[in-house]
Amino acid sequence: QTALTTVGGPKKNVVILGTGWGSTSFLKDLDTTLYNVTVVSPRNYFLFTPLLPSAPTGTVDNKTIIEPIRSIAKRTPGVVNFLEADAKDIDVENQTVTIHQATTEHSGVSKEDSGSSVVKDTFEQKINYDYLVMGVGAQPTTFGIPGVAKYASFLKELPDSVQVRKKLLSAIERASLYPVGSPERKRLLSFVVVGGGPTGVEFAGELQDYVDEDLHKWMPEIADEVKVTLIEAMPNVLNAFSKKLWSYAHEVFTETNIDLVLNTAVKNVTDTTITAQKKLADGKTETLEIPYGVLVWATGNAPRDLTKSLFQKIPEQNTARRGLLVDKTLKVDGTDNVYALGDCAFTGNPPTAQVAHQCGEYLAHQFKVKADIADLQQELIKASNSDEQSKVQTRLESAKKGLKEFKYEHMGALSYLGAEKAVADLVWGKFSSTSTGGAFTYLIWRSVYIQMCMSARMKALVASDWAKVSIFGRDTSKE
Ligand code: FAD
Ligand code: NAD
Repeated sequence: QTALTTVGGPKKNVVILGTGWGSTSFLKDLDTTLYNVTVVSPRNYFLFTPLLPSAPTGTVDNKTIIEPIRSIAKRTPGVVNFLEADAKDIDVENQTVTIHQATTEHSGVSKEDSGSSVVKDTFEQKINYDYLVMGVGAQPTTFGIPGVAKYASFLKELPDSVQVRKKLLSAIERASLYPVGSPERKRLLSFVVVGGGPTGVEFAGELQDYVDEDLHKWMPEIADEVKVTLIEAMPNVLNAFSKKLWSYAHEVFTETNIDLVLNTAVKNVTDTTITAQKKLADGKTETLEIPYGVLVWATGNAPRDLTKSLFQKIPEQNTARRGLLVDKTLKVDGTDNVYALGDCAFTGNPPTAQVAHQCGEYLAHQFKVKADIADLQQELIKASNSDEQSKVQTRLESAKKGLKEFKYEHMGALSYLGAEKAVADLVWGKFSSTSTGGAFTYLIWRSVYIQMCMSARMKALVASDWAKVSIFGRDTSKE
């Protein structure tokens, strides 16, 4: 039996799905006194994804890069109701969302492992909304490649970081039990990252840093045998960056001994071996068999099941593939009051935190304007004489000018490469930009990421983790 919960009162109900970049930016900027606000997410915290590649190796602590959503909600002026649950179904006609109690366990990939969370019990309820704001993000894609969902780890959610760390340290400890030169020892110490986008590049860099700066101190013989490999299907990594920067990334990887395997697409994964096809210069292909101890898969995003269910249910969404089709105000095509932001929406912009954050800020402002307009419309009805009516009408016209279209302002892109080097494509104003790479860019990378942190607490923790690592090194304990 499904209960219908009316989260109501005289104000309109805003239901926000997700506690990621889009939803949290929306919540932070929303005037929560104007609406009944309910946040639904299987995760009771915001995750600062830009530093997620630094977490498995301990450059930052897992807890450093999260912020409890209730603490963020508390800083808004009104009351926010948080429900730790997964939205399972949206009924756009009756304006309800069916939710299940759930807690995030892993990123969720493909049909073998669908959804972002594991349902702990069958408790289900429906909540009604006047406005629904969807910020459910995306899930890692596997392209249906056999074995990936079963054997690879991802780098999308915090539990992924915990899992990767355990796998890395277990592989290292197990390898040390085998004699030098044994094939099993070699396999266990082969750490492979698939996908040369920013996630794969940053994690490969962090991994090599850990091996060179920390493992080398404690287990030098093992550190010398570790091989970090990055496999990319295209001729270069960091395809979204300028040529100068991806060439520089290739140079840094060569210097730091990361084995860059380009033009190579992974086709199959077993518990010990990756099979990949390499395109050769003469147009022929070669099949590679790569034994691995730990495999991290980072080949981009796919829509979540909830998002895909709307592709089917709403006729205007039937042609959607990558995300919900939205108009220039982020309203989902084919609905009157559902908005989508971030990775679950197709806005023509890349699926980045920068875009999701700007969508959230924009929408919060639009919701303030909407509430002002609704108030003035009420005032207009109540106005007792024509003089009063004309004054309210003027204010109403002026308020309506606040309804704007979403415009994304690109500030640039940054990526860490390892060995205290980074690349940055920075945009200054409308017409000028700079592409830079190196040790100084690494300092820019650090200062930008500190600035992007969601709270003063997170900024302080990140800075303190970086200081701790530079003084004492990374923590190499498994837990
Ligand atoms: P997310 O931040 O993924 O949030 C989705 C939320 O929805 C989560 O809280 C999730 O628990 C919740 N959710 C999922 N399913 C449901 C459901 N059924 N019901 C309710 N809630 C649900 N971008 C940058 O611009 N710069 C960077 O440096 C950068 N680094 C990154 C590093 C990594 C390792 C990764 C994986 C991504 C990085 N990105 C970066 C991309 C960026 O993280 C995403 O584009 C951004 O998180 C998208 O925001 P979102 O709000 O759409 O989704
Ligand atoms: P991505 O989509 O940027 O890159 C995935 C890479 O995997 C591609 O280069 C693709 O060619 C490769 N690939 C796909 N299938 C493959 C296969 N079978 N074998 C080998 N290689 C294969 O993915 P991502 O790095 O996870 O990033 C996702 C989004 O998050 C992007 O929009 C990215 O910009 C953003 N992000 C940004 C940052 C940053 O700004 N520093 C960091 C991480 C992620």
